[in-house]
Amino acid sequence: MRLYNTLTRQTEPFEPQHDRTVGLYVCGPTVYDHIHIGNVRPILVFDTLRRYFERFKGWTVIHVQNVTDVDDKLIQRSIETGESVDAIAKTYTDAFFELLDRLHVLTPTHSPLATEHIEEMIGLVADLMEKGYAYERDGDVYFRVDAFENYGKLSGRRLDEQEAGARIEASDKKENPLDFTLWKAAKPGEPTWPTPWGAGRPGWHTECVVMAKKYLGKHLDIHAGGNDLVFPHHENEIAQAEATTGEPFFRFWMHNGMLAFQQDKMSKSVGNVAQAYEVLDAFDAEAVRYFFLSRHYRKPMDYSDEGLGAARTALGRIQTLVRDVEAELRDAGSSSGESDDAGRAFAESLAEYRTRYIDAMDDDLNTVDAIGILQEIVAATNRFRSDASEEDRLALRAAVELIRELAYPLGLFPESAASCDSIDADLIGLLVELRAELRDKKEFELADRIRDRLEGLGIVLKDGPTGTIWTAAG
Ligand SMILES: [Zn+2]
Repeated sequence: MRLYNTLTRQTEPFEPQHDRTVGLYVCGPTVYDHIHIGNVRPILVFDTLRRYFERFKGWTVIHVQNVTDVDDKLIQRSIETGESVDAIAKTYTDAFFELLDRLHVLTPTHSPLATEHIEEMIGLVADLMEKGYAYERDGDVYFRVDAFENYGKLSGRRLDEQEAGARIEASDKKENPLDFTLWKAAKPGEPTWPTPWGAGRPGWHTECVVMAKKYLGKHLDIHAGGNDLVFPHHENEIAQAEATTGEPFFRFWMHNGMLAFQQDKMSKSVGNVAQAYEVLDAFDAEAVRYFFLSRHYRKPMDYSDEGLGAARTALGRIQTLVRDVEAELRDAGSSSGESDDAGRAFAESLAEYRTRYIDAMDDDLNTVDAIGILQEIVAATNRFRSDASEEDRLALRAAVELIRELAYPLGLFPESAASCDSIDADLIGLLVELRAELRDKKEFELADRIRDRLEGLGIVLKDGPTGTIWTAAG
């Protein structure tokens, strides 16, 4: 597998550092409003990456999706509406998770709220102050960018160039105008927490450092988000994290391109925004997924109803074929007949598509080619089906099974997305049961082989007094 790494500006081989387990941190929303359709892109791209890792690489994924529930925008909204910050945050946090459900994305392993981790953030800021990387002015705390040698390494911005271009504010409390805020002093009416240097609230960049380290531990594999987060957010995360530990933070930084609306960046301030829930009222989740994944995740893309309509039509070709063939096969009953030569040749021809699909996905998540390959299988299957004999038709089962398998990471079939996890659990349960029977029969070699092979897939069996339990390694 190769992935483009923003940090090195190269496409590099990727595999998890520890235990066949990938730590994936995706920066989440600031919950002061509904998310717009552009914010859906990273959600779907990194859900696809996770599904592919789990299903095709056999890796376990620890997926952290945080929620920023204390921030300037929330406070501003509270002032405008008279509602409390807590109430606004609760409303839009609930709306966000409802939206994830509607998009049929896999539930994140952890969805931490910033406000539940304030103590750890205070600890991080205190540590940075103690080590000389941060200083306090009137209750505000700033990161001292001059003290961190590698500042700018992610975004490629050199400090001296930035300084030349930066506007120096007249009454600036900062040592360097590029120093960024770690902690904001309390203002009347704002949510605040006590600290040794006075009450206040954390800055945005500090949250993600704390939550990533807490929930991923040593699995700092991939940190992801939209490419509007490269600077300053991710640059500032790296500075804090690496200044405290002296060790590299995440190995891979992945960023998706922006969604534009008639060539303009979609943003709330411009007002050219389609809310995600409105789009999902008009198009089902699978069409939305197809639409986004039809464009390589790093490229910018343009939003339009026509584009979504075309995605729905193209997806319909895949779904219709699979549903029709599955219905035919059900009606034909569980015939155990053999395919004839033509059927066998067709079934064998499918292997090549699977190989090409994996090559595409391994090449920096090329979902565009992957979707193209799915459409090729559909076209080939339709050609074969139009003049297949009764015996031949059995080979169609292999085709629809392959389509479902390859469509899973892309999430193009709602029912398979929901049921596959439970089938996995059932299959593991079955193997555990078989292994117990083998052990009863003293077939230890075979029993151990099942245990070892499962372990290779990230499933750990533990034998206890009441039988065997299994867990996904993490
Ligand atoms: Zn973040």
